[in-house]
Amino acid sequence: MISLEIKTKKREELIDITEEIQEKIKKRIKIKEGMCLLYVPSTTAAITINEGYDPRVKKDILTFLKKNVPRGCWSHDIEEKNADAHIKSSLIGCFVVIPIYNNSLQLGTWQRIFFCEFDGPRERKILIFCIKNE
Ligand code: ZN
Repeated sequence: MISLEIKTKKREELIDITEEIQEKIKKRIKIKEGMCLLYVPSTTAAITINEGYDPRVKKDILTFLKKNVPRGCWSHDIEEKNADAHIKSSLIGCFVVIPIYNNSLQLGTWQRIFFCEFDGPRERKILIFCIKNE
């Protein structure tokens, strides 16, 4: 199984993993045409695709989530104090699917893949599954 391991540094951050994912695919897989599933096996993290050119975009996404999902006011906070991270994880989602052509991820000009940490710092893993078109 191909995976990417990363160490997050903050409680909440969006980390651009586009180059690392593309490298893994180029080295390990030969696909003329197909698709790639990136899956985060976690309940307090997520993965998304958005603009990577202006760093304010990822900042705005975190600000939006912080404003709309405050910390410390949910029933799960009695247990673990990370209910906001679980809610943010579900809102963003734990996978993305990206088309592949000539072993290259078909991302738009401004699109980047972001790993979303909501309860770090932690060691995290992203699973990479690629499927060829017949
Ligand atoms: Zn929890």
